[in-house]
Amino acid sequence: MTQDVNTNQRVREKPKQMTSESGLVSDSERSFDAAPPPGGARCPTLGSTVVVADDALFLEHVAPPEHPERGERLLAVRAGLERARAAAGAGMAALQVGDATEEQLARVHDPAYVEALGQMAGRSGYLDSDTYISPGSVSAARRGAGAAVSLVDALHQGRSRFGFALPRPPGHHALADRAMGFCMLNNVAIAAAHARALGRERVLVLDWDVHHGNGTEAMFYDDPSVLFVSLHQHPAYPGSGSATDLGRGDGRGRNVNVPLPPGAADATYAAAFQRVVLPIVEQFAPDFAIVSCGFDAHARDPLAQMQLSGRAFGTMTTALLSTLLEPCPLGLVLEGGYDLEGLSESSEAVAAALFSHASAEPRRLEATEPSGGGAAISREHAAALAHVQQTLLPFWRLG
Ligand SMILES: [Zn+2]
Repeated sequence: MTQDVNTNQRVREKPKQMTSESGLVSDSERSFDAAPPPGGARCPTLGSTVVVADDALFLEHVAPPEHPERGERLLAVRAGLERARAAAGAGMAALQVGDATEEQLARVHDPAYVEALGQMAGRSGYLDSDTYISPGSVSAARRGAGAAVSLVDALHQGRSRFGFALPRPPGHHALADRAMGFCMLNNVAIAAAHARALGRERVLVLDWDVHHGNGTEAMFYDDPSVLFVSLHQHPAYPGSGSATDLGRGDGRGRNVNVPLPPGAADATYAAAFQRVVLPIVEQFAPDFAIVSCGFDAHARDPLAQMQLSGRAFGTMTTALLSTLLEPCPLGLVLEGGYDLEGLSESSEAVAAALFSHASAEPRRLEATEPSGGGAAISREHAAALAHVQQTLLPFWRLG
């Protein structure tokens, strides 16, 4: 079952490509600033502790040579979080993490798949063309899903309002019945289902990993209680994520895809937040929020062609926090991101945004059209966003 990692479509060199937006990155802070929700309560001072669900087992998922999903990624993220914590002079509390239970996994996964995955424990090879396993991978995956569950438990219980889970392997491509795209168990979907099981009524899953979260989408496609919003590069792996994939049945309108052409930088993501993401989040008014927190839209990432700065991940976090109504918790769960420097600076920016949120002053989010001066977005990206807005108008009031 072992396959050559170089034969798959996902693991490849990043093409040399620059964007029409290059040079505009320095405007990211200004253009991403977020306004408070009309009529909504801004978060009060919440204390500065951020909870973190991490575990030594996540480094027991050992990559083959040259595979981009490798343990050094986690070390880079840990370093970024620690720098943010030290700079803020704040607390970061480690959660006790156990394995996800059969019941927790079965909320979104086929039990037969979970059993088959368990039988792979201790073995090495590939589960699909790019999803490797090493002898410790199945244990890591079970513990990773458990980390997402532990994070939800801690936030639900009010130990903090903000937290990170740092599972390896990542999760958002994993389907109910099979591994896919470096992912074995869908950590974020397991977390969202757990929040629902705890009684949370409207769960937001915001997926800003550069790849479409096809697994998460599929698991909640007909579920109106889980709003799935994905910003992703298109075309790119895995190829899904059309704006017209809106959900099914009672869930129609609760599946929001924002596919963006390659080259999108901070200004385009700011516009996407202002025009699509934040208005929808505000109207949905989640009582629990989870981010599929991939960092592979960073400009340095080798697997995609977006151009985000590290700071943009912090400003996206701030924008989201400014739109969530008190006391909605926010848990971020690590997904992709394959450049170590990009991972480190992006995770630092997200953590810094969490630490500083309590003292942040209300600010305005601004995104400018190409003719408007300042941070412009390309016509190609403006057209993509306009298409998304038009498609969603039957379901949401959009800015
Ligand atoms: Zn990704």
